[in-house]
Amino acid sequence: MSFNSSHHLDRWDKSGSHVAVVGGGLAGLASAVWLAERGHRVTLVEKAGRLGGRTFSFEVTGVDGLVDNGQHLFAGCYDALLKYVETIGSAAGLRWDAPPLAIRTGPDRLLTAQGPAWLPSWSRRVLGPSWLAWPPIPLRDKPAALRTWLYLAAAVARPSDRLDEMTVDRWFRKIGVPESLRRLTLDQFVIGLLNEKPDRVSAFTFVQALRFLGGRALAGNPRAADAVWPRISLHELFVAPAERFLAEHGGEIHTGAKVVDVVVRDERTTGIELADGRVIDCDAAVLTLPPWALTSLLDRGALGGYEFFSPVRKIEASPISSVYLWLDRPLRMQRLAENLRDTTIEWVFDTSGMHGTDDAAEHCYSLAVSASWDVVHLRGTEFVSAAVASLHQHYPESRDAQVLRTKVIHQPAATFSAQPGFESQRLPQKTPIPGLFLAGDWTRTELPSTMESAADSALRAVRAVTGYLTESRARKEGP
Ligand SMILES: Cc1cc2nc3c(=O)[nH]c(=O)nc-3n(C[C@H](O)[C@H](O)[C@H](O)COP(=O)(O)OP(=O)(O)OC[C@H]3O[C@@H](n4cnc5c(N)ncnc54)[C@H](O)[C@@H]3O)c2cc1C
Repeated sequence: MSFNSSHHLDRWDKSGSHVAVVGGGLAGLASAVWLAERGHRVTLVEKAGRLGGRTFSFEVTGVDGLVDNGQHLFAGCYDALLKYVETIGSAAGLRWDAPPLAIRTGPDRLLTAQGPAWLPSWSRRVLGPSWLAWPPIPLRDKPAALRTWLYLAAAVARPSDRLDEMTVDRWFRKIGVPESLRRLTLDQFVIGLLNEKPDRVSAFTFVQALRFLGGRALAGNPRAADAVWPRISLHELFVAPAERFLAEHGGEIHTGAKVVDVVVRDERTTGIELADGRVIDCDAAVLTLPPWALTSLLDRGALGGYEFFSPVRKIEASPISSVYLWLDRPLRMQRLAENLRDTTIEWVFDTSGMHGTDDAAEHCYSLAVSASWDVVHLRGTEFVSAAVASLHQHYPESRDAQVLRTKVIHQPAATFSAQPGFESQRLPQKTPIPGLFLAGDWTRTELPSTMESAADSALRAVRAVTGYLTESRARKEGP
């Protein structure tokens, strides 16, 4: 697999500078790994007792192996994330699949991007999604649907800043998107891509995400739209190999260590302060905290005096709710992930199928709701009932299945919520404090709240740190 050249990191001649990375989610892990790869001494500091941030795994009584905090879907255009798994040596833990476009409108009706099986395979990729251009909606809505695609194409070609002043819902109404098309594809596409409802999310962020996907496809990656599923747990894919990599490259990891302040002396970053009063000295620091955690540093420490950080306070979170169901028999799914219509549950993921354990006596499915404002408050039993009812509606065979075990996971702060104005709240990786850098899915990338945005932000931060340390060293050494 080749990667976009803008993601290429130059080799660093080992200066042995010490960099502190705060936060052990994907952005922190990737920053630490790539900095260590370049020969820096890295100390990774994480508040929780484990690494992984919003991509983590845990044990469930009676279940072999680890269970993830939620389904995490990659796309073939996730260049930075794919680079990360290649660096830490876990790329074999990924399973490539056809594009994740599989909409189930009823028990016997699945619209996919694969096309009917009787088509020759070379033409299935092209003809498969052709129903998108001529969707199964009432004839009277088809001209408006065609107009919608043209509007979208024009907006993607030249995104206007003014789109960040309105929600997707308002924009769709303004350009006359037919309700039937919204119900069939577009609204769910927005929710799936941005983890936010169309009446809350910025139209600009939507267009920018489409532009990113299209751009990477046009850049020559024929698999840009393909789904990439983890065949092992997120811990085995992202965390354990990174721990090994850092150990082999002289890195140090502190978990259960909350950072409360950044030490700034002589107008440059010289350390980070932990909640127990200890200070870790460093030549540069990368903060990879989500916005809702960064605000506590603004409230108490050196950063509060800088206007630069204040937009962070406006960024809100958006929830994801999911439930794992272990059944005594498989569902008749045609794809590893199917997107349901007119039910509480939006996604059914065949977890056993992804992990290659689908011949086991138990079959595990992850049922998820993105931007789960309507269900995040439900008690476990209520949510399980709604999930089972959704299965009964779309997979009649599930009515005879026995539910062996369940695990409900409500995550109120799963992603950032890109509301109108969000683009001006996204901060760049380089801050006005020399030696202090930011990373994290919410920092300035062209992506929604995704693992790719976290990894991409890490690449940008690592490049900025490297530039800063090179300059500092040149200044110290003199002409
Ligand atoms: C259920 C769910 C499903 C998702 N599905 C997908 C998907 O299908 N595809 C996709 O691309 N993305 C998905 N995402 C989004 C993706 O997981 C996130 O965008 C990404 O993991 C964010 O990584 P991050 O490193 O920026 O932030 P985080 O993972 O939040 O990492 C920040 C870390 O900083 C630590 N921290 C906070 N404060 C301090 C402090 N004071 N001192 C030290 N450490 C601190 C936190 O404990 C945390 O470990 C999903 C997220 C969830 C929750």
